[in-house]
Amino acid sequence: MEKMENYYQKEIETASYEQIRQWQSERLVKTVKHVYENNTYYRKLMDEKGVTPDDIKCVDDLHKLPFLTKDDLREAYPYGLMSKPLSECVRIQSTSGTTGKRVVAFYTQHDIDLWEECCARAITAAGGTKEDVCQVCYGYGLFTGGPGLNGGSHKVGCLTLPMSSGNTERQLQFMTDLEATIICCTPSYAQYLAESIEEKGIKDKVKLKAGIFGAEAWTEEMRKDIEKRLGIKAYDIYGLTEISGPGVAFECSEQNGMHVNEDHFIAEIIDPKTGEVLPEGEKGELVFTCITKEAFPMIRYRTKDICVLSREKCSCGRTHVKMAKPMGRSDDMLIVKGVNVFPSQIEEVLLAKGLTSNYQIIVDREKTSDTIEVRVEMTPELFSDKINELSKIEREVNDALKSMIGISALVRIVEPKSIVRSEGKAVRVIDRRNLYNN
Ligand SMILES: [Zn+2]
Repeated sequence: MEKMENYYQKEIETASYEQIRQWQSERLVKTVKHVYENNTYYRKLMDEKGVTPDDIKCVDDLHKLPFLTKDDLREAYPYGLMSKPLSECVRIQSTSGTTGKRVVAFYTQHDIDLWEECCARAITAAGGTKEDVCQVCYGYGLFTGGPGLNGGSHKVGCLTLPMSSGNTERQLQFMTDLEATIICCTPSYAQYLAESIEEKGIKDKVKLKAGIFGAEAWTEEMRKDIEKRLGIKAYDIYGLTEISGPGVAFECSEQNGMHVNEDHFIAEIIDPKTGEVLPEGEKGELVFTCITKEAFPMIRYRTKDICVLSREKCSCGRTHVKMAKPMGRSDDMLIVKGVNVFPSQIEEVLLAKGLTSNYQIIVDREKTSDTIEVRVEMTPELFSDKINELSKIEREVNDALKSMIGISALVRIVEPKSIVRSEGKAVRVIDRRNLYNN
């Protein structure tokens, strides 16, 4: 029997591949022309690359266009990448900007509407309808999390609780008194809420059925933990302020990768070193092009997130390409013996083997061959002088690493607090190869 799947915009979300490509081609041509005519910063980049709007006839020509990076956004701050006059804009949102200048994104009313539609698709895919009570505990304000899901919840017709973040007492009171059925927050806050609910013994008063979690990295183990403890289905959502906010991609009932809203955003995977477009299914850096936005349409924006795209048929009936959960940042990627290695993959193995996340990866080169050593601090429980025990664990970690990253590493378990910390944080990677200094 076919399962019931709800869509917010069925015609669009289940459109044929040819239809999606046609939309993308038409809208890309229009957007490039719009940006070239209205944005001096991007026009300069195109001129430098020797490409004009006439060179862009369909989506296959996308690769001819220059990339944009966060550095461009900083350089063009605050108005340099706008493609509409300020008088046409109705909103700004911003990143938290922990390093350097913040990224400021501008929206026309049209841009807000399409962003909220994307969030509405995500809420509907998580089972949301107008019968639901949707509690939004992402931060409101400059951060896109709160406003995005709030708007999406309105569009679906849910009763929206605009809680914003923090004040757990009040969150739980509204959650139980108003019988919230959907919650939107970061996965770590969901775990914190679950803990508080357990402590208070109010699990029977919680009516949640689904949660939409994003804005930070989380693992499948966290998903299982949240689902079990809150008694809900936990869905992933992806987005970034530069592109619009949450809802660039969202998870469906299959809970296995996120559908990119391809009628609004074109996704590409590139080699982070060379910038070359990689074939579908290969791992690389995710790049987005906005094709329906007016005020701030990023073209070929490099997200630095490393992931994989897949067009395999999805059981939910949606046809838009799926992106895997990002597995790291291109900044962090190491190439050892020709293999891409992310510290996050190594960390996953260490934690799965009961070790700590205080580790250090040392990459070196002996003659022409790379070596990789992983030093990890033992837990106090492991702190024993049974050398045999330790070497057994080291071998196990080595085997697990080999099957995860495909190359052998020298694993050394070291005493607690023996890895040097800089400003409280362990220095994760030491690369002694000097590959770029010859
Ligand atoms: Zn699906």
